[in-house]
Amino acid sequence: MQLRSILRARPLISIEALAVAASIYFAVASNQTFFRAVAATGALHGAKGALTFTCLFVAIIALHTILLCVLLNRWTAKPLLIVLLLTNAAAAYFMSAYTVYFDADMLRNILHTDGKESHELVSLHALPSIFVYGVLPSWMVWRLRLKPRPLLRGLLIRFVTIVLAIVVTAAALMASFQGISALMRNHRELRYLVTPGNYLVSLVQVARDAEVDHNRPRAPIGMQAKVVGRPAAERPRLLVLVVGETVRAQDWGLDGYARQTTPQLAALARTPAGPINFTHVMACGSSTEISLPCMFSPWGRAHYDKDRIDHSQSLLHVLEHAGIRTLWRDNQTGCKGVCEGLAFESFEHGSVPDVCTAEGCLDEAMLHGLAERIAVNPGDQVVVLHQLGNHGPAYYTRYPAAFRQFTPVCETSDLDRCNRDEIVNAYDNAVLYTDDFLARTIRFLGEQGGRDTALIYLSDHGESLGEDGLYLHGVPYAIAPDTQTHVPMLMWLSPGFSAARGIDTACMKARSNDDVSQDNLFHSVLGLMQVRTPEYDATLDLFARCEHAAPV
Ligand SMILES: [Zn+2]
Repeated sequence: MQLRSILRARPLISIEALAVAASIYFAVASNQTFFRAVAATGALHGAKGALTFTCLFVAIIALHTILLCVLLNRWTAKPLLIVLLLTNAAAAYFMSAYTVYFDADMLRNILHTDGKESHELVSLHALPSIFVYGVLPSWMVWRLRLKPRPLLRGLLIRFVTIVLAIVVTAAALMASFQGISALMRNHRELRYLVTPGNYLVSLVQVARDAEVDHNRPRAPIGMQAKVVGRPAAERPRLLVLVVGETVRAQDWGLDGYARQTTPQLAALARTPAGPINFTHVMACGSSTEISLPCMFSPWGRAHYDKDRIDHSQSLLHVLEHAGIRTLWRDNQTGCKGVCEGLAFESFEHGSVPDVCTAEGCLDEAMLHGLAERIAVNPGDQVVVLHQLGNHGPAYYTRYPAAFRQFTPVCETSDLDRCNRDEIVNAYDNAVLYTDDFLARTIRFLGEQGGRDTALIYLSDHGESLGEDGLYLHGVPYAIAPDTQTHVPMLMWLSPGFSAARGIDTACMKARSNDDVSQDNLFHSVLGLMQVRTPEYDATLDLFARCEHAAPV
């Protein structure tokens, strides 16, 4: 046949045949990452492995056939398949480039990502593969003619097709029951690689959660919270809580990284009243969506309950109930509900000269006008600075030119166009900038003569920089590598604060290699600010371990 006649052809096909054909195409074109991951577990080894592979392949086709038979009709068939083909092509690209698992959390991350962030993620490099695997087959689908059928006959054929697909799925799973059940039990996360089932099922889950969430107010916590034991005559207190972004312990100079990425903090740490660095800190999650609400909740990872955390007030509300004012300054995409109804300022579209552009602000913008903002409130207060930090993949945009110290640098958000050294260099330069940001904030707090001041820095989660082929973060917690869950934490108290509170900083330093986690944050902040409420647990308060008897 000549090319022209192929291009002109408009084959006639029934919707059921189209569903089967599309499912076969999905199994072959969109599930390579899934089969690669299955192979990596060793489950496809030998004759038994060949059987497992065949059965998995057939089951994936049959399951998607069932799904499509439910979704497709003569009006939805073409538009829906085209959307699926294009989404699949993009999803398959990101899964193979970054090993992304499309569970509900990942989908929430993507849906909550703003335009600027997604602009960084959509790389030109993805376009050829989206064209070949998405646009070309979409064009072919568009050219098809759907076979018209009388309603009853059509429904009957659809019903028979679905029953047959169920039988085939069951047969395939039975034929290799031992292999497949062991695989899915031991590697539950693999199901999030089966495309497009992964994101369709997750989408339904996210939509259902959103529906439930909509009219549900946050349950109050710590309504009776009170500041206890604080002499009224003492100077007002100011705690700055810096929530870091995507900084991992492995690249944190103070945690023993071979490269000094925290020179200023290291110099400060050598002085008597210098900051204390905690070396063994675990994050609650591997993404902002999980970690941020979790670290501000009383339950943490130890009693993790996403629904409960998302529908309860946070540490900041408890502080407010105790009469301590809070302020959230944000250089990211918001406080994820943690500061709901409380004072909030966004720098996402800030206009501070020299540090903000149309693309966004450097983190130091959050220090701009801070002194004036604090002066408004004469009493105790807690200010949260939510950094953009090391948010990837465009690490090279997170710091000004002066911090371009490790070179050569990966200067694109398209990580697969850079080698590993270039990616790590860009990432480490961004850590250098966080070092500067924290040192600046400590200096600023040191200059607040009228107040006792303190700073706590805690990163939300880590990042993969190519180890085991993984990039970015968000791998399900149970299988997340240490690089995504081991994070830096730092505390600093002004001499006035530690004296007034009777906190022995030498003791804090001596215990800074203890195993701690983001679960300690809620209780440590309440402890430091002397807030008493039933939710407070002294055993998780890192200051309580090093407290002298209160000075009389
Ligand atoms: Zn994050």
